[in-house]
Amino acid sequence: MTTALMDGIARVVISEAEIARRVRELGREISADYRAGAAKDPRGRPLLVVGILKGAMPFMADLVRAMDIPLEYDFMAVSSYGNGTSPGEVRILKDLDCAIGRRDVLVVEDIVDTGHTLQHILAGLSARGPASLRVCTLLDKPHRREVEVPVDYVGFVLPENLFVVGYGLDYAEVYRNLPFVGVLKPEYIRDA
Ligand code: 5GP
Repeated sequence: MTTALMDGIARVVISEAEIARRVRELGREISADYRAGAAKDPRGRPLLVVGILKGAMPFMADLVRAMDIPLEYDFMAVSSYGNGTSPGEVRILKDLDCAIGRRDVLVVEDIVDTGHTLQHILAGLSARGPASLRVCTLLDKPHRREVEVPVDYVGFVLPENLFVVGYGLDYAEVYRNLPFVGVLKPEYIRDA
C-alpha cells in the first residue's frame, strides 16, 4: 500500500513562508557581517560554507542563494542518530574535499539538539586552523543542550521539546522533502 507524505504529519510547526522569510533575513545578516569584518582570511579568499549532510541540504541551498557575498561551498556528512529518535555515536562519513587552513568557514546545520554532533564537527574543523569558524543552524533546541557549543546564527528556536521533520530533517530517512517543519503523528513513530 502506498502512503502519502502528508499522512504522517500531525501539524505544521514552521510554515514554508516563515522559513523563506527567515532564510532571507539570515542571508542578509550573514552577508553584512562578513562584509563588515567577520572575514579574517589573510589572503581574502571567499567564505567557505560547509553544509552538514544530509539534513542541512535544503536550508543550505536556500541560504547561499540569500547571501550576496562571494562564497564557495562544500559538504561533510556525519551520522549521529540511527534510524530512531535517540542520540548515538558521532561518526564522519564524508569529509570536506577542500583544505580550510586560514580560510573563513561557516558551518550550516539543520538542528542543534544536545550539541554533541556540532561539538565533534567543530573540534575537527578547528584543528585544521581556519581563519574564522562560525555556525548557522536552522533550528535550535537550547533546552536540550548537554555540551556548550557556539552558535552564531539561529533560524528558529523550537518552543517545546519536539521531534520535528521536514525541510531536510528526517524520520527514518523519510520526510526530508517536506517544504515545512512539522511533527509526526505518534502512531507514525515506531519507538514512541
Ligand atoms: P545533537 O548531536 O545536537 O544532539 O543532534 C544533532 C543531530 O540530531 C541533527 O543534525 C539531527 O540529525 C538530529 N536531530 C536532533 N533533533 C532532531 C529533531 O527534532 N528531528 C530530527 N529529524 N532530527 C533531529
